[in-house]
Amino acid sequence: MTYKTVNVGAVAVGGAFPVSVQSMCSVPFSRYSELVLQAKELEEAGCEILRVSVPDPKSAEMFAALKKELKIPLVADIHFDYRLALKAIDSGADKIRINPGNIGKDNIKTVVKKAKEHHIPIRVGVNSGSLEKALLEKYGSPTPEALAESAKNNVELLENLDFGDIIVSIKSSDVKKTVQAYRIFDGMNNERYPLHIGVTEAGTFASGLIKNSAGIGALLLDGIGSTIRYSLSAPPVEEVIAAKTLLRSLGLRNEGVEIIACPTCGRTTIDVSGLAGELEKSLSGIKTHMKVAVMGCVVNGPGEAAEADIGVTGAAGKYIVFAKKDGKLSVVLKDADKQTATEYIIKSAESFGR
Ligand code: SF4
Repeated sequence: MTYKTVNVGAVAVGGAFPVSVQSMCSVPFSRYSELVLQAKELEEAGCEILRVSVPDPKSAEMFAALKKELKIPLVADIHFDYRLALKAIDSGADKIRINPGNIGKDNIKTVVKKAKEHHIPIRVGVNSGSLEKALLEKYGSPTPEALAESAKNNVELLENLDFGDIIVSIKSSDVKKTVQAYRIFDGMNNERYPLHIGVTEAGTFASGLIKNSAGIGALLLDGIGSTIRYSLSAPPVEEVIAAKTLLRSLGLRNEGVEIIACPTCGRTTIDVSGLAGELEKSLSGIKTHMKVAVMGCVVNGPGEAAEADIGVTGAAGKYIVFAKKDGKLSVVLKDADKQTATEYIIKSAESFGR
């Protein structure tokens, strides 16, 4: 069933709107110029909602300046101090992320009042590392049931204050637990609040990619989730690239260049992996959806790349570029060196993407 639509600045989350891509800055406000550069890099890479930590009053004040540097909505991540939530809202936060249960009843009332005045949503962020004591005692550990119950309780705290602009996240570093917790909560999510999904503290780049892809992918294929964040111990721009790639590969966002590359085998005599990586990087700014193939041999390559709009193959260090014309792949450049072939593809892809 469709989720309710909640607006985070100019980005609509839920409803029939596309699943949005989020990330979080890793640089603190105390290194402000670096923070601005990182935030802009993430915006440029396609991040649609950006979160920053607001751990102290100075950061909450500086939030307003950072917001002016960006076009995308900026979210303030607050943990326990409701006063920081109030300050961040005054500084123009487009959403705040809190866990209402950690803030105290009177304080949450004050935060909700302020959020209502500024028409901004609240993300209820439940995390297996900060589950309420009562639920830990009831369940013995942060089980999926305990996490879902925590989310429900926290949501009810806001509902009881007549607040419904809610987005919910329930995260654990365990993929199965995360997926089960979201599935359980989704079954009790009668108001259909949009869900922010991801696997938290997922580890190094490679293991984090796998854990997030497995968890987020499983949920999205179930129709669960409205906005996603890859949590990676890597530069945050990698989170954005990964999230966009996942959404494209699940057919949920038809944007940007999809690289098709063969795994290589004993027939390969050209640099498939280097060329695929170079094209992926050079073509990352193209918004139009297109498929670019890099195949390691002329025997099977063009056949296996039949879905591509443009592609390259070759033998013994010589490259052949092929492109789709009238629905068929035809050779458009022969016996080229690697650089000429790369430049030809980039130029053709850019004109296709215009
Ligand atoms: S396209 Fe050619 S080189 Fe690549 S895996 Fe298939 S057979 Fe091997």
